[in-house]
Amino acid sequence: MGQKEFCIQPGISNPWRVELVVEPGSIGYAELSRLLGVTREEFDRAEAAARQPAGGLYRDRVAHFRAALAAARSYRRISTEMVRTVQPDFWAAYYEIVDTASHLFAADRVRGDRAVAAAYAEVDAALAETVRALDPRTLVLVVSDHGFQPADAGIRRDYGTGRICRTSGQCGP
Ligand SMILES: [Zn+2]
Repeated sequence: MGQKEFCIQPGISNPWRVELVVEPGSIGYAELSRLLGVTREEFDRAEAAARQPAGGLYRDRVAHFRAALAAARSYRRISTEMVRTVQPDFWAAYYEIVDTASHLFAADRVRGDRAVAAAYAEVDAALAETVRALDPRTLVLVVSDHGFQPADAGIRRDYGTGRICRTSGQCGP
C-alpha cells in the first residue's frame, strides 16, 4: 500500500496517529464556562454523564458539546498533520461541531447564539490552520450539510395553488 492510499476514520485505529486525538476530558471547566457559560454544577453533571456507559454523554448536552469540540480539535490536528506529511491528492474532513452545537443549543435563547458562534469559531480556526499548510494552488471546498430556521418558519401548503411554501417566500412546484 502506498503512503497516500490509507484512510482515517473518526474511530481512529491507526496507531501512528492516535497521539493526535484530543480527549474530551482535556477540555476543562474554565474553557466550557468561557464558551458556553456553563456553571460548575452543569460541568460536574456533564463529567458524570461522560463517565456513564456508551451513549451516556449524548443525554447531557454540555457533555455532548464537549465531545464534539474534542472531535473537531482531533480532526484539525489530523488534517493539518496529514497535509504537512502526506500531502494527499484528495482530503475530506467533516467537522460536526456546528451541526451538533446547533441541534443542541439553537432553540436555547440564553446559550444558543454563543454555542453556535463558538462552534463556527472552532471550525474557522481549524480550516485556517489546515489551509495554511496546503499548496496555495489547492482547490478548497467548504460546504454545509444543512441550515437551521426558527421554529416559526414552518412549511405551509398554499391550498389555492397546491404549492408548498416556506414563510420566507420560497415555493416548490
Ligand atoms: Zn443536523
